[in-house]
Amino acid sequence: MPTEPRLILILGDQLSHTYVAETLVAVPGADVVLMVESADFVKRQPYHAKKIVLLWSAMRHFAAELRGLGYAVEYVRQEENRRFKDAVVDTAAAHGAKTVAFVRPRERATRRGLHKFLSEAGLAIAEHPDPFWYTAPESFATWLAGRKSPKMEDYYRDVRKRNGILMVGNLPAGGEWNHDKQNRKPFPKKHAPIPPFRAEPDEITQEIIEVVRGLHLSFGLYGAVNGFASPVSRADAEAALTFFVLYCLRDFGAYEDAMTTRDDFGFHSLLSIALNLSLLSPRECIDAAVAAYERGDVPINSVEGFVRQIIGWREFMYHMAESFPGDYQTTNTLNHTRPLPAFYWTGDTKMRCLRHVTRRVLENGYSHHIERLMVLGNFALLYGANPHELNKWFWSLYLDAYEWVVTPNVVGMSQFADGGWVATKPYVSSGAYIDRMSDYCGDCVYNPKEATGDTACPFTTLYWSFLIEHESDPLSQRMTQNLFGLRGKTDEERAAITARKAVLLTMIDDL
Ligand SMILES: Cc1cc2nc3c(=O)[nH]c(=O)nc-3n(C[C@H](O)[C@H](O)[C@H](O)COP(=O)(O)OP(=O)(O)OC[C@H]3O[C@@H](n4cnc5c(N)ncnc54)[C@H](O)[C@@H]3O)c2cc1C
Ligand code: SF4
Repeated sequence: MPTEPRLILILGDQLSHTYVAETLVAVPGADVVLMVESADFVKRQPYHAKKIVLLWSAMRHFAAELRGLGYAVEYVRQEENRRFKDAVVDTAAAHGAKTVAFVRPRERATRRGLHKFLSEAGLAIAEHPDPFWYTAPESFATWLAGRKSPKMEDYYRDVRKRNGILMVGNLPAGGEWNHDKQNRKPFPKKHAPIPPFRAEPDEITQEIIEVVRGLHLSFGLYGAVNGFASPVSRADAEAALTFFVLYCLRDFGAYEDAMTTRDDFGFHSLLSIALNLSLLSPRECIDAAVAAYERGDVPINSVEGFVRQIIGWREFMYHMAESFPGDYQTTNTLNHTRPLPAFYWTGDTKMRCLRHVTRRVLENGYSHHIERLMVLGNFALLYGANPHELNKWFWSLYLDAYEWVVTPNVVGMSQFADGGWVATKPYVSSGAYIDRMSDYCGDCVYNPKEATGDTACPFTTLYWSFLIEHESDPLSQRMTQNLFGLRGKTDEERAAITARKAVLLTMIDDL
């Protein structure tokens, strides 16, 4: 007796053979796999053109691979202009499938919407846990329960111990859990950039590039498709991981926080793009990095730094956001409501750090962590920009941005708008930090050491005024280190900083 087919739904960021073959155990010739280039997606907000190329090209490559393995694949192309919901319900009906099986979507809104419309359509739901997380949601809830101030560091050590990652018996390899102190070097003067990994566009990608050029005209996307070279297949993603381990991992740790006008990528992996599409699993990235350490190819501070990013920050942010008791889409603890300055969208500003980083994002759909946190996020927080407008900016422009990861990072970590749920302190700094970690300030029209006067660095003015404004409110308890520096300021200096801030606010578009 032939069994009734299931509809195996693969979302655009679930392009993993492990999911299809092992988690959902799709049966070639019996089950039907469905993938949808949703019309809802591009209409939701204007994205970076390269992001749309990435998503659709990766989806089409994955569908082709599945067909090559003998699976029956229904693939809805964007030009069919179908709503996601209709595509799923109609395809299930066309194949007589009464059950829709899928891996638990990472995006909450998708999860809610999917459950709702499948139930309304009378379809049975078979939702499977995502095997790529090191910690299952229930297990994270147990870890979190009763903790007054959950910290990434504690969670990270727990994951390392439980999974035996970089452990020698019960002790951390290299004798320390955290090698951050060695990981704060600026680039040397003679820093020679490594050309980034490129996956040259094949025929499938070329076709999508043309489609997206057309969409550009109708939807007004951001950025250009020119130069697109991100991984769009499993083979590309594996090659990107190998490239990182071979050429970048050795210096990853030491220069993790360094910024320069001369290098868009430093020694960063750019692997978030493939990881967030599930073209790579976090486990294989960790395994490859640890194997390089065990071969003696890379130092402990680099491998530990990398491992911390993936099993520490990435997992922690996901689980913490899932457990947030409020609503991440609306929370705004500091009541910041100023519109995001226009230069975020144009790169048109005299502030050299922001000019370089925003132009880099508009060009590549990427900038590294410290540029996101200490340049783009830092300025928006000090200026008092609406955190949700900033979130939309990141979400639209970054190739690795999806709601589950971008929102806790922007709204939580960088803007402290969740009241400190994911971050222990507001990440604020004056121009002095940017000057120490980059070569941006040297030729800037502003001076990072000055807080007042026409050439004062806006970061520096806004930093001190942020501290003055929060000196006596509950936020001060999270900023004791920063406030220490404020104690030396006289009343006159404080008044001059406040006055300079008032001027900056009137000329934000001319800064
Ligand atoms: C304001 C802001 C916005 C961000 N938006 C995103 C986003 O939309 N998508 C995204 O994947 N990451 C985001 N991050 C986290 C981090 O900046 C990126 O993951 C990282 O820069 C990606 O580049 P990479 O692959 O070269 O990272 P690497 O420096 O090579 O790090 C290795 C990996 O660690 C993981 N990682 C490190 N930190 C985090 C983190 N805080 N959250 C999640 N993963 C992390 C990523 O998967 C990354 O690929 C954001 C951080 C900030 C401060
Ligand atoms: S001086 Fe200030 S605005 Fe100019 S590059 Fe440095 S931090 Fe940025």
